[in-house]
Amino acid sequence: MMYKVILYYKYVKLSSPLEVVDWHKRFCAEHSLKGRVLIAHEGINGTLGGLESDIDKYIQELSKDSRFEHIDFKTSHHTENPFPKLKVKLRKEIVTLGLQEDIDMSVAQKGTYLTPEELQAKIDQDEKIIFVDARNDYESQIGRFKDAITPRIKTFKEFPLFLKSIEHLKDETLVFYCTGGIRCEKATAYAIQQGFKKVFHLKGGIHRYLEKFPNGAFEGSLYVFDERMAIIFDKNENRKILTNCVFCGKLYDSYKNCFNAKCNKRFIVCDDCYRNNQGFCSTECAQTQHNKRKDAEKLMKILCKSGNS
Ligand SMILES: [Zn+2]
Ligand SMILES: [Zn+2]
Repeated sequence: MMYKVILYYKYVKLSSPLEVVDWHKRFCAEHSLKGRVLIAHEGINGTLGGLESDIDKYIQELSKDSRFEHIDFKTSHHTENPFPKLKVKLRKEIVTLGLQEDIDMSVAQKGTYLTPEELQAKIDQDEKIIFVDARNDYESQIGRFKDAITPRIKTFKEFPLFLKSIEHLKDETLVFYCTGGIRCEKATAYAIQQGFKKVFHLKGGIHRYLEKFPNGAFEGSLYVFDERMAIIFDKNENRKILTNCVFCGKLYDSYKNCFNAKCNKRFIVCDDCYRNNQGFCSTECAQTQHNKRKDAEKLMKILCKSGNS
């Protein structure tokens, strides 16, 4: 069966976010939608998977509410629902930048939007731009724009600190990008507050860019926060792969988690090596008592679907 996965966000003032949470819990349960939706006073940030007809119904229903009009839904397809469960959460913010005082997104000046086409034109014309990856290090490790600056951060909360380290680029033309665009809304707003002068924001993120230019300037795979771990848009056999399997060294650019529940390490491992090592990242993990091996069925499921979509 084909499942549709959507990725979306909107910054919009919500006076009663709890009401939106309740509606989502009800609607998603009724339509077997799974994934993660964060709702706050500043807006909504979600990724959901379900049968195509149910996802379409969700989009239709949500869009009827004027607060959620004109949301840019990025979609992809998968042979199963990549989310094991549904989480709908009320949060203080839909994206956390780790500032003492959060940016008021309803008034903040953000980076200038660049559509994928506009970005591609800049690349084709050899304009001097510097890419700034607004994602975490494990995301940019497996895929990034060519020559991008990739922060060594584990969470978005560390981004302000990273920005300090590139203060010498305040007068350069910077193109910020992230998965779907939501982190860049805040990252560019913060950069402008900090005195960066020419800040652009890739509209719709890497996802939208890759839909239009699967073999353009973005190299490697796109990390996603669900069981797929990464999406590969470029179907070309000779596509560029930036990383290798930690065991056999073969070119490979997706993660799996160690099957030892206590370790749960995210590591780059090809399907064959993952299977041969029973899903463990090391011999220590294979010997531990804290493994999930009694849950053999789940392991088989992971092994079977570990191929990328
Ligand atoms: Zn391998
Ligand atoms: Zn491990």
